[in-house]
Amino acid sequence: SVRVRFCPSPTGSPHVGLVRTALFNWAFARHHGGSIVFRMEDTDKERSTQESYDAILDLWRWLGLDWDEGIEVGGPHGPYKQSERGDIYRDVLARLRASSYTYDCFCRNDEVDARRKASGSKMQGYDGFCRDLSAEQRAAFEAEGRAPIVRFRMPDGSITWDDVVRGDITFETENVPDFALSRANGDPLYTLVNPVDDAMMEITHVLRGEDLLSSTPRQLALFGALVDLGIAREVPAYGHLPYVMGQGNKKLSKRDPEAHALAYREQGFLPEGLLNYLALLGWAIAADRDIFTMAEMVEAFDIKDVNPNPARFDLKKAEAINASHMRLLSVEDITHRALPFLKEAGVVSDPVSDADAQLLELAMPLVAERINKLTEAPAMLGFLFVDEADFTRDEADVAKLLDETGRGVVQASYDALEGLHEWSTAAIEEALRVALIEGMELKPRVAFGPVRVAVTGARISPPLFESLELLGRERSLARLQSAVQ
Ligand code: GLU
Repeated sequence: SVRVRFCPSPTGSPHVGLVRTALFNWAFARHHGGSIVFRMEDTDKERSTQESYDAILDLWRWLGLDWDEGIEVGGPHGPYKQSERGDIYRDVLARLRASSYTYDCFCRNDEVDARRKASGSKMQGYDGFCRDLSAEQRAAFEAEGRAPIVRFRMPDGSITWDDVVRGDITFETENVPDFALSRANGDPLYTLVNPVDDAMMEITHVLRGEDLLSSTPRQLALFGALVDLGIAREVPAYGHLPYVMGQGNKKLSKRDPEAHALAYREQGFLPEGLLNYLALLGWAIAADRDIFTMAEMVEAFDIKDVNPNPARFDLKKAEAINASHMRLLSVEDITHRALPFLKEAGVVSDPVSDADAQLLELAMPLVAERINKLTEAPAMLGFLFVDEADFTRDEADVAKLLDETGRGVVQASYDALEGLHEWSTAAIEEALRVALIEGMELKPRVAFGPVRVAVTGARISPPLFESLELLGRERSLARLQSAVQ
């Protein structure tokens, strides 16, 4: 059965490309009823951090990308952190070293460079110098006190695989230099540990970014040796997912702010909105359809449908997709999800007081249909919850709408509402229409804009008459009055 892996390197803030790769692995495994193994590729001790490790786990949980085996869950192929698998790698390395698939190499990089230069070769990487050392050459290196590294001997000929995304890919091995599997101190290198883990964790499909495609011929050659030595059962299928491009047709890089996956959560995206958008980076559920749930993606996902061409990251589209998912939620659900943002912004108390909870229940239906991200909830609702002394208005909106005409409108509104018998949405609307639209012969936009800025503090707000009702007579009149003073 299908076994795939999440195998992020915990170095820095998780990139949206990493999440897209995880999502496609997840959808593929779930579609086939397979298993997902989560291992942490923290082999690079200098660059790996606990902060990044925690951020990745936190993000995966928020997104709902669950796994069946691996870190935090356990399983038969542990440990699942590369930093804890040193003994396993050293054992495999010893077996490879005892075989003819590798050789000991004593060369320093500067020596390889010098030889390449002297021969005029344009090849990069190792030149095979130590492939067939004589006993004397070896003894001479050892006498100098040099410690060898273990180097993999690339086989002659070519390496071909049927990439599950791209079809047949062939590399001539004369273009793939022999590569190091260990350091001189015996520490295993990433080139060794990544395929060894895939072998021992019995991964059937390696689905990963196109940036790793050039390492695949080396990994396949190494896999051949691992199978021969009885360390791997079978060679997994490989599939390389398209690059994610940012501005100016360049690969989306860590320097691009939209590359940071955690930022979407902070900006109030829904996990289902972000995942739906990321799914579109290389895949489509149908030609004319952008919005779908993860259950629908799992049902429909076929790795063969992934488009190998680079995918363009479009923040505007991501926001629009998120907005569509907001529309699918109930008011209760939006309220629940917006609560942390409302607390964080200080709009409601933490824990939420009864009064705040009651007001929120009345106010949320007014904005639920209008917000595209959860962070817009505090921005839109703040005016209802703020203490009168702290109420402020957007300066640009005041300059634009509370000019002389606008202040006249606000004054007329005050006069119309001051003696209002019943403080209800319908009565407020009726009174304002009579005073402003009929009495002053204003267009609705001209009439209500200034009133909106006066009472809510901004040009963009929940519906005006409902807002006035919720705000109450006293506070509404006070704000209308202070706007013209
Ligand atoms: N750990 C690698 C990364 O962070 C992934 C390697 C792989 O998928 O083979 O990109």
